Amino acid sequence: MSAITGRTRLLGVMGWPVEHSRSPIMHAAAIQAAGLDYAYVPLAVAPEKLAEAVRGLAAMGFRGSNVTIPHKVAVAELMDELSPAARQIGAVNTIVVEPDGRLRGENTDAYGAFGAIKNQTGRSAQGRDVLVIGAGGAARAAACGAAERGAQRVILLNRTREKAEALAHDFAQSCPETEFAVIDQLAPGNLAPGAFILQMTSLGMKGDDPLPADPGTFPKDAVVLEAVYAPPVTPFLQACRANGLRTVDGLAMLVAQGARSLEIWTEATIDREVMREALES
Ligand code: NAP
Repeated sequence: MSAITGRTRLLGVMGWPVEHSRSPIMHAAAIQAAGLDYAYVPLAVAPEKLAEAVRGLAAMGFRGSNVTIPHKVAVAELMDELSPAARQIGAVNTIVVEPDGRLRGENTDAYGAFGAIKNQTGRSAQGRDVLVIGAGGAARAAACGAAERGAQRVILLNRTREKAEALAHDFAQSCPETEFAVIDQLAPGNLAPGAFILQMTSLGMKGDDPLPADPGTFPKDAVVLEAVYAPPVTPFLQACRANGLRTVDGLAMLVAQGARSLEIWTEATIDREVMREALES
């Protein structure tokens, strides 16, 4: 790691707890590979201290910070400005401190999802069916990103149907060119050939979790993206691969969203492979 000096710019990740975050490791590797004079540190911020901590970023000259569980929604209220994606998703995962101290909220999770798919398969969401499993923060980013990228249809499937309906309602107003539908269960033939399936629930983090959906019901040429990255290969990813489906894992999404944040802060070109290797080592 290069030496931290009085000129080193500061970046961080705010979470509570934050000690399990993988972001400091992957960002440090990318910063070093790009020869940037930045340092990226974990910031353990209790929910009741969030507003104070966010104001402190500008006061201490930080260039920005990532935001993770449980602050992504609450922090949006504390920004001076939101990017169109952050406003629509209703959550911020990247804070940018402008030179005059103003705070801009960005959300790079949709870029992470679709950037990872594009990078690994060359495919974009344009004109496709996109099944989003979940209706939490990651699912909101995925549904918004799919509509922004010209998906024909976004189909939502979530344990709590009302949350999926609320999400479909919100986005149907703001993205009238994309059709939004809510389903309780997927049957073979429900999705058009070449569909994207985005697994955006936290299922798979615990060993005894059920599968979020049956891969046997997906089109054979579908691409499946898994958001969960711990473990790096979830039972759902394993089942999809066993069914011969093309898959993109949660680490690829984590790397893509993190690289995008770093590009926004530094305007440098960021090496995704270096970030991935740091996570795997
Ligand atoms: P969240 O807002 O808490 O949403 C959780 C989602 O999972 C909800 O749809 C919830 O359904 C569903 N769920 C939870 N337990 C379930 C169960 N036992 N059965 C069925 N559904 C269940 O979380 P989030 O921020 O969206 O994150 C979701 C996952 O994505 C997490 O594992 C997170 O680490 C991961 N993620 C990864 C990346 C990446 O870069 N790879 C980025 C963002 C998030 P209900 O609505 O019914 O509660």
